[in-house]
Amino acid sequence: MQAFMLVHPSSAQAAVAAASQDRAKYIAGGTDLLQLAKDNIETPTRLVDLEPLGLSGIHVGAKGLHLEPLARMSDVAAHPEVVKGWPVLSQALLASASPQVRNMGTMGGNLLQRTRCGYFRDTGFACNKRQPGSGCPAIDGENRSHAILGGSDACIATYAGDMAVAMTVLDAELELTGRNGRRTVAIGDFHKVPGDTPSVETLLEPGEMITGIDIPASAAAKRSHYVKVRDRASFEFAVVSAAVALDIDGGVVRSARVAAGGVGTKPWRLPEVEAALTGKPADAASLKAAAEQAGAGAKPTRMNGFKVVLLKRTVLRALQTVSA
Ligand code: SF4
Repeated sequence: MQAFMLVHPSSAQAAVAAASQDRAKYIAGGTDLLQLAKDNIETPTRLVDLEPLGLSGIHVGAKGLHLEPLARMSDVAAHPEVVKGWPVLSQALLASASPQVRNMGTMGGNLLQRTRCGYFRDTGFACNKRQPGSGCPAIDGENRSHAILGGSDACIATYAGDMAVAMTVLDAELELTGRNGRRTVAIGDFHKVPGDTPSVETLLEPGEMITGIDIPASAAAKRSHYVKVRDRASFEFAVVSAAVALDIDGGVVRSARVAAGGVGTKPWRLPEVEAALTGKPADAASLKAAAEQAGAGAKPTRMNGFKVVLLKRTVLRALQTVSA
């Protein structure tokens, strides 16, 4: 493990300045970063501790939910207003990791977790994401867990998280603070597909940090749900997951938000499913027809063609649950 200096900033500006230096990283709960550092996949020489900044509030107002980046996953999942107004978020958080990890893991850190691709996490293998230009052994190798949507010739690693999939159907916005001040980005724009540069996973600039997450209140948010299919019942990443949020009025779907996890190189919105639902009756036939649209354009690997079928079934289960 690379030795590092631990920096305790007194303000967000000081944190940004410290984290803008070469080989510096932010640390919050450390549940992913410390494992990566122990395995020499991340080798920072300076860790900027975000704990002194506070920033752990959970605020509910008339317009929606405002989460500060160091809010703990377990606290957000258990918050009564979150359970009531944004159930998909609570469910996705509770489906993540283990109670111990959720007690340490933060909202900001969870958005930045790295892929679980086994080649990425083993320095004995080449990996374009870890070492640009070195190759991608997953493409012809062990790729059952890899992406069927959004991959490239350079990388097919799956985005591993649950929470960001839920945030995708809730139209969350992230407030970012960096050397050039503050900006706001939609959750759907935050994570990047790998393209030719799989080592670039988000649009964060050097030193830039997540300082807030805003999630609007809506009828669809209240009628939302998360389904996660995994190889074991707990402490496991998604093989396939689905998040849905529907606004149903008079038995007709007025608006739909649908996204998937475990299948894409980023949290994957399913616009074909949304379009098939909108304006249609929320009945069994319409839901089934819409779910059949999931996975349009998928490019399965040698080992994960089953994900195309599983995705449709997982989306259908989530749709049936919210429309019941
Ligand atoms: Fe690395 Fe991506 Fe290939 Fe995995 S899929 S080995 S993360 S380049």
